[in-house]
Amino acid sequence: MTLAYVGLGANLGDPRRTLAEAILELGHLVGCAVTRQSSLYRCAPLGTTAQADFINAVVGLETTLEAELLLDQLQAIENRHGRQRPFSGAPRTLDLDLLLYGDVQLSTPRLTVPHPRMHERAFVLQPLLELDPVISLPVKGLASVLLRACSGQKIARIE
Ligand code: ADP
Ligand code: MG
Repeated sequence: MTLAYVGLGANLGDPRRTLAEAILELGHLVGCAVTRQSSLYRCAPLGTTAQADFINAVVGLETTLEAELLLDQLQAIENRHGRQRPFSGAPRTLDLDLLLYGDVQLSTPRLTVPHPRMHERAFVLQPLLELDPVISLPVKGLASVLLRACSGQKIARIE
């Protein structure tokens, strides 16, 4: 069993509903159980394109799936929710990123773990810290310290 963390985000359609459904679908994957679930957060988009705010969350997933097989399943869930990729950074109905897979570090053409940009994103670090306040990222270190460098990013926990 490996404890993986998955980041969820959406800013098209009905993001809250999509995230709730995606979390249920993650829990129904063979060999996977959602053991931790953060609050939802409303976050301003980081890119340059003007687009709607995101709803983001992070879940902890106990899994027996290997990392690339887990990525296959994440992409299948994205696709079921109508994910399209017209251009990089486009608005999306659902984005599922494999943030951490235990303390594994790996890089293949399809998959880099830890997720290469997670350490600079408040919308990942803040919900992750809700699940584990002392969590450390391989190489990058304590998430709580990394979050302090993201103070310019707008993020609000949804009650
Ligand atoms: P974004 O970077 O905006 O999340 P996509 O969701 O379209 O963009 O992902 C682009 C590609 O990133 C995917 O085709 C996937 O193969 C690759 N990728 C590499 N590492 C990861 C990871 N840790 N989690 C999710 N996708 C990843
Ligand atoms: Mg993605």
